[in-house]
Amino acid sequence: MEKKPFVTLEKLEEIAGRYPTPFHLYDERGIRENAARLREAFAWNPGFREYFAVKATPNPFILKILRECGCGTDCSSMTELMLSDACGFAGHEIMFSSNETPPEEFRFAADLGAIINLDDITHIPCLEETLGYIPETISCRYNPGGVFAMSNGVMDNPGDAKYGMTTAQIFTAFRTLKEKGAKRFGIHAFLASNTVTNEYYPTLAKILFELAVNLQRETGAKVAFINLSGGVGVAYRPDQQPNDIFAIGEGVRKVYEEVLVPAGMGDVAIYTELGRFMLAPYGCLVTRAIHEKHTYKEYIGVDACAVNLMRPAMYGAYHHITVMGKENAPCDHKYDVVGSLCENNDKFAIDRMLPEIAMGDLLVIHDTGAHGFSMGYNYNGKLRSSEILLREDGSFEMIRRAETPADYFATFDFCDVMGKYLG
Ligand SMILES: *Cc1c(COP(=O)(O)O)cnc(C)c1O
Repeated sequence: MEKKPFVTLEKLEEIAGRYPTPFHLYDERGIRENAARLREAFAWNPGFREYFAVKATPNPFILKILRECGCGTDCSSMTELMLSDACGFAGHEIMFSSNETPPEEFRFAADLGAIINLDDITHIPCLEETLGYIPETISCRYNPGGVFAMSNGVMDNPGDAKYGMTTAQIFTAFRTLKEKGAKRFGIHAFLASNTVTNEYYPTLAKILFELAVNLQRETGAKVAFINLSGGVGVAYRPDQQPNDIFAIGEGVRKVYEEVLVPAGMGDVAIYTELGRFMLAPYGCLVTRAIHEKHTYKEYIGVDACAVNLMRPAMYGAYHHITVMGKENAPCDHKYDVVGSLCENNDKFAIDRMLPEIAMGDLLVIHDTGAHGFSMGYNYNGKLRSSEILLREDGSFEMIRRAETPADYFATFDFCDVMGKYLG
């Protein structure tokens, strides 16, 4: 499918006139319409809820939009819990799916009334010691081991992944938790990331639904919800067929009717914890071409770098690039589009066929709305960019300011030689 930016060149120049590049831009309309489609696709399940994976796009303005769309949040750290709390998410609207969890984070999650999803059987005594009790609603993360057909480079096969409990352990965990007072149970698994097939959720659902039936039958623990977690992907490449969320919802419904309903478990709520699917296509990284270099290859240097978008450097991930205003020009130039880090993997594109790029051209790097800004870092002393929200009415608003040197140096605020740069 042809990839088109959600913003026009005129609008981008207007935004870039107020907020210097690089910046991440988000499309409120796209976010809302997609969230509504997800809800509709799972409307057959009365208890359905999407817990947005905060790590994908940890911005309060985005979280508030998703809250208005009926989403909860999925957190895995103290600050993600704080962000959720600050945005008005409360109690069971928050899922705490963490691993190698510091005890104080269990404490904070419990204080917020969040649903705690235990990554390991040894977390049961840790949680009990930390809280002094076991919450009535509790969830366990499952890892079936072995290989999973839909695995890809972003996540290892289940058998090599650090997450979740074995089959034997989850049965023991349910029995132990029940003895200690838990009353409503959930199960959770995340087996593959960025799947671009309508079969991932239905395949995972079958594994989890059959497990849920056996768990409830053998331990007597009441399974109240099943969390399909994240992993529904997006079509980063123009030649990929995007997921059809209605086909996915329908696929899960079929398995639900086949496995859970006959077992008398037709009241189980389905939860999702999508990050990428909710946001990736509705954000882009906007950057300007600032240098052109001809050596053994043709390079275009841009004012963004891997600290603004790590996925290409980290996973060799493809992100489509549109040279704004040249959408219909022939792609007859082969470029490496590169950032300024002193690391040769700081390349947004390698040997990419693009229209001829002139200095000052605005480039839109697509599908950066999830795991884009949020994976940012400060290597080479590079500063994080701003984030801008394009509202439904065409107005735009800064939803995070760009970092300044004073932000970068703030953790030296006790050090007298830095005073002059601390603002
Ligand atoms: C990262 C993560 C998600 C979201 O994954 P996506 O691939 O962005 O959908 C959901 N749940 C957990 C526990 C995660 O770690």
